[in-house]
Amino acid sequence: MAAPKVAVVGAGVVGLSTALCITETCPSCSVTVLSDQFSPNTTSDAAAGILIPHTYPGTPIHVQKQWFKETFTYLFAISNSAEASEAGVHLVSGLKATGVQIYTRKVADLWELHSEYNVVVNCTGIGARQLVGDEKLFPVRGQVLKVHAPWVKNFIRDGDGLTYIFPGIHRVTLGGTREKNNWSLAPDPGTTKDIFDRCCSLEPSLQGAQDIKVKVGLRPSRQHVTLQREVLSQGGVKLPVVHNYGHGAGGFSVHRGTAKEAARLVGECIAALQGSSSRAKL
Ligand SMILES: Cc1cc2nc3c(=O)[nH]c(=O)nc-3n(C[C@H](O)[C@H](O)[C@H](O)COP(=O)(O)OP(=O)(O)OC[C@H]3O[C@@H](n4cnc5c(N)ncnc54)[C@H](O)[C@@H]3O)c2cc1C
Repeated sequence: MAAPKVAVVGAGVVGLSTALCITETCPSCSVTVLSDQFSPNTTSDAAAGILIPHTYPGTPIHVQKQWFKETFTYLFAISNSAEASEAGVHLVSGLKATGVQIYTRKVADLWELHSEYNVVVNCTGIGARQLVGDEKLFPVRGQVLKVHAPWVKNFIRDGDGLTYIFPGIHRVTLGGTREKNNWSLAPDPGTTKDIFDRCCSLEPSLQGAQDIKVKVGLRPSRQHVTLQREVLSQGGVKLPVVHNYGHGAGGFSVHRGTAKEAARLVGECIAALQGSSSRAKL
């Protein structure tokens, strides 16, 4: 079998990290990322990107701990490296440097990729609801403000985590909201004022914050992350698919762990394809 061609659909934190893990575990694979949106227009761009354990009630706790631990270990190593100040900013260019191809494309049906790719990986976040008709997937809308306030150096999070101030490398994220089944991506001005007021009452110096930008994201939520293999089939033709979506409020916190598992499942798909192609030659 020639170099297996793998398409990763989706360019949020899950899709990009999954593509990276596939290049690491399967160097002979040709990996392509297809997505209708890229940074700064994904849910992942709205996140503060804090590592905080979130619970997926339908996923065994030891599996969640493993994903979180792998992600923490991975990011901790980056934060202690010489590239720490640039981490995250260059994920797309870093992928291009490893030979991953990246195209803007909206995929209406995973099957449309069967003639071009051997394996397809579905990392479409909330988009999976329409793409694969997963009605167990629902949005939890989050609105945040990204402000310029470089004097804020410490994070503050209130009791239930709804109001928070998270300084990042370039901007401070002020949050937030959790609105179940709200699909609106339009910023709500009343919510913007409410978030700003709540955060200023925790940190009054934020009254001097500048360049206030509003971001909205739809957390792709379900009882458990969908991380599994499936084989699509039409008229005797088969297309192996690996799903990796539904990370809800914790995509950053577990992205590396789930990406590694997705890459392992891609490896299983390729081994199965290679097994069937050598049997066909006999
Ligand atoms: C306000 C807010 C704050 C958050 N804070 C945190 C935090 O501090 N820590 C944490 O761990 N998590 C946090 N999260 C959760 C985290 O952002 C998500 O879990 C994560 O971004 C999900 O990543 P994803 O790659 O699955 O989805 P996305 O980032 O939405 O990426 C999906 C990608 O798929 C593409 N796509 C979708 N459908 C199609 C299609 N049909 N064809 C082609 N491309 C398609 C999209 O364009 C996009 O590129 C927060 C979320 C929000 C909204």
